[in-house]
Order: sequence, then C-alpha cells, then structure tokens
Amino acid sequence: MRIVLVGPPGAGKGTQATVVAGRLSIPAISTGDIFRANVTAGTTLGVEAKKYMDQGLLVPDEVTIGLIRDRLTEPDAAAGFLLDGFPRTVPQAEELETMLAGIEVKLDRVVELKVDNDEVVRRISGRRLCRNDNTHIFHVESKPPAEPGVCDVCGGELYQRDDDRAETVRKRLREYEEKTAPIVGFYAERGLLASVEAMGTPDEVTERILTALEAH
Ligand code: AMP
Repeated sequence: MRIVLVGPPGAGKGTQATVVAGRLSIPAISTGDIFRANVTAGTTLGVEAKKYMDQGLLVPDEVTIGLIRDRLTEPDAAAGFLLDGFPRTVPQAEELETMLAGIEVKLDRVVELKVDNDEVVRRISGRRLCRNDNTHIFHVESKPPAEPGVCDVCGGELYQRDDDRAETVRKRLREYEEKTAPIVGFYAERGLLASVEAMGTPDEVTERILTALEAH
C-alpha cells in the first residue's frame, strides 16, 4: 500500500506512522526524521534545513522534493510506503503525483489526522524524544518514562526538540493552516481522503486508521 499521513504538528503522525507501517510491513518515511538525521550528522542538507526548522518554517520545496525522490527509489519502498510529513504543500503533492506516475503507481489512501489546536499545544510541549533513536517518543503526561529524562527502551537521554517550544509550535500551526491544510482538499478531490479523529489514546487512533485503510 502507498499511504500519506497528514495532520497538524502534534497530531501524533510520527507515533502512528511507525505503528501503522509496522502493522502493514511497509517502511515509514518521515521527511522530518530525515532532516533531523542530517542536522545531527552536520551534512550540507542538515545545515540548510536547520535554518528553517528552528524557526518553525517549512524547508523549501526544491530541497524537500529532491530528498523524497531519492528516498522513494530505494528498494524497500518498491512495494509500498507510508509517508509521514510529506507532502506538506500543494506543489509537493503535485510533484509526488508526477513522480509516482513516472513509475506507474498511485497513492492508495491519504489519511488526515484531525485534532484541535489546544490539544496540539498540550501534546507538543510535553513531548520528549530519545537522543539515541528519535522514534522512542514519550510524553510527560500521557506516556511518561519510568525514570524522568531516561528512555525506557534503550536508556538514552530524553530531550525536547527545539521546534517543540510553545512559540515555535504556534508558528508551525500557522504554517500548517496556510500551506499544508490545502492538500486535504487536493486529495479529497481525487477521492483519496480518509479523515480520522486523532483524539483519544494512541491505540484507539491506530485502530481508526487501520479501519479507514481497510474500508478502502
Ligand atoms: P516533522 O517532524 O514532520 O514535524 O518535521 C519537522 C520540520 O522539518 C518541519 O517543521 C519542517 O521545518 C521540516 N519538514 C519536514 N517535512 C517537510 C516537508 N515535507 N516540507 C517542508 N519542510 C518539512
């Protein structure tokens, strides 16, 4: 299956992407994770991306599109993938459509996670990630680690992303409304959209997503 997961920052995309992709045996591809790995490694791409990420702004389309084009041609993506955080603008969505047409495949479903803004701020400001592996994600309220500041999975140090600070979160929400929300209409027009309520426990949301995918 070829799936796109879309939703505002804090909707639980990262968590759901990992779980749902695991259940479907397809890779979860997160542009945010790819950018963060490049920032950590100090690559040219990372240095460029960080300028935008730290300010809560989107990285320019030409940078992001090139990156995803390379990633989608890797062998593990041949039979399917779940995209988390891409596309995030209408030009990116158009470019993805062209890219996939070029290899004669299509998206199967676009899942929109819906959540209200207050909930987003509460979720994001409490989020803590593991320095060893950014997919080990905790929350000070809803999923606290057994020992504060320490990853339950591998013992790594937990940290707050720079772009998870309240002021930056508000800017990211504005970016979402202005630039990303229009892709929901883009996919609705193509009959690909499934909107899923993202309030509730992570397990409940996972089940809703899987149900929406099965219904297709
Ligand atoms: P995320 O982990 O998906 O919240 O992404 C973190 C940050 O990476 C975003 O706030 C953007 O600065 C950047 N980013 C991730 N995906 C994209 C994308 N598709 N287009 C532009 N910027 C992106």
